[in-house]
Amino acid sequence: MNINERLIEAAITSRTKAIVPVHYAGVSCEMDEILEIAGRHHLLVVEDAAQGVMSSWKGKALGTIGDLGCYSFHETKNYSMGEGGALIVNHPELIERAEILREKGTNRSRFLRGQVDKYTWVDVGSSYLPSELNAAYLYGQLEAAEEINADRLRSWKAYMDALRPLQDCGWIELPKVPPECRHNAHMFYVKVKDVEQRTRLIRFLKERGIGTAFHYVPLHSSPAGTVRGVFHGIDRYTTAESNRLLRLPMFYGLPENVPVMVSGLLKEFFASQTM
Ligand SMILES: *Cc1c(COP(=O)(O)O)cnc(C)c1O
Repeated sequence: MNINERLIEAAITSRTKAIVPVHYAGVSCEMDEILEIAGRHHLLVVEDAAQGVMSSWKGKALGTIGDLGCYSFHETKNYSMGEGGALIVNHPELIERAEILREKGTNRSRFLRGQVDKYTWVDVGSSYLPSELNAAYLYGQLEAAEEINADRLRSWKAYMDALRPLQDCGWIELPKVPPECRHNAHMFYVKVKDVEQRTRLIRFLKERGIGTAFHYVPLHSSPAGTVRGVFHGIDRYTTAESNRLLRLPMFYGLPENVPVMVSGLLKEFFASQTM
């Protein structure tokens, strides 16, 4: 579900400033190729690691590989502060500007360090500081990050084991994680035949008390995307794959019997489809 690194170079124009790889489901993009292309074209790499906290690529934490990395602590993510996030600044020379943008365009961070005797407005910016109450709520989860991660991975593996026979039957397609990637079980998804089958499956599961989700209208097809974005090349996969993807229940503390129970329902659904 990640960017196809072989198609990046053809999309670069004289106005391109950065490559923004999205590490979907906490599984890393092909960073060797992306860094190499960025280096050759003098572009920044800004990792969207919103889903990738606790994931790594070749032993490096996602978000620490490019020039900048972004984490999300939105309520839908593995570690949550309600609303909030983090910018990982991997270049020392970018740190001070980041501090200023976060502090409403002021050099208040320098003032707090005693480097200036008063603070003033030196740049654009906004009020990007999370409150300490939100931060405290997040901090408890970060202290338990290993435990939370291990619990999610257990659920993920249980889904994988229970659903593999359905993949062998050709009913569904399961996620693939390249060997150099360690992921964080941000989500568990299956891919079905097409959007019609997915709609029927969502209804089937809902009638049996299981809430599932699909998500992300491909950005280039969204109202804002049609005005502000350009889809380079032919949309061979983006829309089709997004239409057949379905997320199964996945959260910290998922009851142990859920993956097997949901897999049983999927089996029942597909068996009835082929009759
Ligand atoms: C959640 C998410 C975001 C947005 O994160 P916010 O904390 O809501 O700003 C961006 N990119 C991806 C891939 C996400 O999953």
